[in-house]
Amino acid sequence: MQVFGPSELLEDVLNAGLCIGCGACVNLCPYFRSYKGKTAMLFPCSRETGRCHAFCPKTEVDLDALSTAVCGSPYSGSPTGTYQQVFMARAGEGAGNGDFQDGGTVSALMKFALESNMIDGAVLTGRNGLVPAPGLTTSAREVPAFASSKYTAAPTLAALNDGFNRGFRQMGVVGTPCQLTAVAQMRTNPLQDANFADPVALTIGLFCTWALDTRGLLAFAQKRAPGEQIRKMHVPPPPAGIIVLETDTRTLEIPLEEIRPLVPAGCRICPDMTAEWADLSVGAMEGKAGWNTLIVRTAKGNSLVRKAAVARYLELADFPRENWKDLETAAADKKRRAFEKARQDGTVNAEAGCRAALRVDPRTLEKMTAD
Ligand SMILES: Cc1cc2nc3c(=O)[nH]c(=O)nc-3n(C[C@H](O)[C@H](O)[C@H](O)COP(=O)(O)OP(=O)(O)OC[C@H]3O[C@@H](n4cnc5c(N)ncnc54)[C@H](O)[C@@H]3O)c2cc1C
Ligand code: SF4
Ligand code: SF4
Repeated sequence: MQVFGPSELLEDVLNAGLCIGCGACVNLCPYFRSYKGKTAMLFPCSRETGRCHAFCPKTEVDLDALSTAVCGSPYSGSPTGTYQQVFMARAGEGAGNGDFQDGGTVSALMKFALESNMIDGAVLTGRNGLVPAPGLTTSAREVPAFASSKYTAAPTLAALNDGFNRGFRQMGVVGTPCQLTAVAQMRTNPLQDANFADPVALTIGLFCTWALDTRGLLAFAQKRAPGEQIRKMHVPPPPAGIIVLETDTRTLEIPLEEIRPLVPAGCRICPDMTAEWADLSVGAMEGKAGWNTLIVRTAKGNSLVRKAAVARYLELADFPRENWKDLETAAADKKRRAFEKARQDGTVNAEAGCRAALRVDPRTLEKMTAD
C-alpha cells in the first residue's frame, strides 16, 4: 500500500471532488475538520506521509493488500466478498423496541455487544435534522437513539478517532462500506507505528449502493418541503425507483432520478456494496419488510450472532436462495460500474509513478468488468 501525505490527499481526493466525508482524516490532528457533511483542510501541512492519507478510502486503496491483511488471500473480485453464512435476521424480544430502519438487527447486535462487554464503546450515527451526527456511546440503552438510516454520507469515523484519543481500545463501529474500508486500512497499521494499538473490536457494515451529499439534500428538502422536519428516509427495493421522505404531516415519494445528482462523485467509483471488510454485514431484506439480510464474515461475527440469538436479542431464519442470486447480481453490477468509471477516469492502477484511487490485479479487474 502506498502512503502519501496531506498534500496528496488534498489534491487527489478533496480537490478532485472524490471525498465521501467519512471522517477518517478528522480528529487525527488539528488540520482536517468536518462541518455539515463537508471535510476541509484548514491549514497546509508538509508531512510526506500521514494517517489521513493512509486511512482515506478514496485514494491508493490496494485491494489485494487489504484483502490479504483482512481475509488472508488477495482480492478475488467476488460480488459479495468472503463470508461464512447468510441469514434473515431481526431484533428479538430481548433487544427491546426502537425506530429501526428494517429489522433492527444492527441495533440489537450493538446493544448485545455492549452489554456483554465485547466492546467498550459503540461508534454510531444519529442525526440533527438532516445532518448526520456521529457519536460514541458506552450505554446499551442509548443505542436505539441512533437507529434508522441516514441516507447521507456521514463523518462517522471522526467519532472513532475521537474515541481513540480518549483511550477507547475496543470499539464497535457501524459503518457504510467506504467507512469500513477506512477502518480496515487503519487496522493494518499502515505507517508501521511501533506504538500502534488497534482501537476496534467489532465492525458491522451496512449495505450501500449510494449516499447523498448532506448539503445537497438540505437544499433539496428546503425546496420540496419548506419549513418541514424530515422524520425518516426510506429507499424501497427495486423496482420502486423512489426515495420516501416522511415529514410530521406527510409522505413524499421522490423519483430516484431527481436525487441522483446529489450522489457524490466518490460513490461512483465505490466497488463495495455489502461492506466486505466487516465482521458482519447487514442490509434490507428484499420482499420481507421488517427483516434484514445478515452476512456473517468472521469467527468473531459468528460468535456474536450465536450468542445474541441464544439471549433472544436476535431472531434468525433461513435465507432464501433466490434472494442471494439477486444480491450477488446487484453487488457485481456495482463493482462493474465502479471499475469501469475508475478506468475511464484513469484512477485505477495508474501507471508507474502516478497515484491511483484503487489498485487491483489487472486480471481481477478484467474479470469484474467483463460483460
Ligand atoms: C447511506 C446508506 C445506504 C444504504 N443503502 C442500502 C442498500 O442499497 N441496500 C440495502 O439493503 N441496505 C442499504 N442500507 C442499509 C439499510 O438502510 C439499513 O441500515 C440496514 O438494513 C440495517 O437495518 P437495521 O434495521 O438493522 O438498522 P437499525 O437498527 O435501524 O440501525 C441503523 C444503524 O445504521 C447506522 N447509520 C445510519 N446512517 C448511517 C450513515 N449514513 N453512515 C454510517 N452509519 C449509519 C446507525 O448508527 C445505526 O446503528 C443503506 C444504509 C445507508 C446508511
Ligand atoms: S474520504 Fe474520508 S478520509 Fe478521505 S478526505 Fe474525505 S473525509 Fe477524509
Ligand atoms: S456508495 Fe460507497 S462511497 Fe458512497 S456512501 Fe456508499 S459505501 Fe460510501
